[in-house]
Amino acid sequence: MLLFKQYFGDFISLLFPDLCNACGTQLFHGEEQICTKCLHDLPYTDFHLYADNAVAKLFWGRIACHAAMAMLYFRKGSRVQNLIHRLKYNDQIKLGFVLGSLLGEKLAQSDLYLQADLIIPVPLHPRKERSRGYNQALQIALGVADKLRLPVPASLLVRNKATSTQTKKNRYSRFENMKAVFSVTDPASLSNKHVLLVDDVITTGATLEACAQVLLDAGVAKLSIVALAFAE
Ligand SMILES: [Zn+2]
Repeated sequence: MLLFKQYFGDFISLLFPDLCNACGTQLFHGEEQICTKCLHDLPYTDFHLYADNAVAKLFWGRIACHAAMAMLYFRKGSRVQNLIHRLKYNDQIKLGFVLGSLLGEKLAQSDLYLQADLIIPVPLHPRKERSRGYNQALQIALGVADKLRLPVPASLLVRNKATSTQTKKNRYSRFENMKAVFSVTDPASLSNKHVLLVDDVITTGATLEACAQVLLDAGVAKLSIVALAFAE
């Protein structure tokens, strides 16, 4: 029966081979989600090794970050864009974990992130999470947690409502508006902790800034921001 299952599995993968989520070539046995060549060639930032990297600078003067980084450069039409797109829109729940594990390996090489106590993903609006089937930031966080051996209390930071239209508001009221979107369910369990806040892509950083401020207001002692990719 086991042999039959194996033959059957091989037969199925002949008909529907697993493809690399970055470049679309067929995956070999032992490769998971991303081919070996892409894993090697992806545009890594090495930001985990430098405290004053471009992501950290993005948050200077906005939020009191202990450290901030993103693992990959995000450019239009690139393999990183393919990865992020498939993670968000192609029901690739495992891809988030695999990319998160990769991110966790990088963070483990840096003293900046080693003293963290817990990992919190940026929450999705519940309606969006239902339609997508999962929160990709949570899947990334679980991958990171697997490498760093840290807890992921996913329901500590929640999203209250969809972000309202902000075009006519000034910067301060936009920020206040964003902050009202998020809240902490149990401030006591965040008190004096070093939190790694996790998201998929950093563009303006507005969502992360709002989440970070809500966490700091709730009593987090140190806050670090980590993401898969950074759109320059
Ligand atoms: Zn590939």
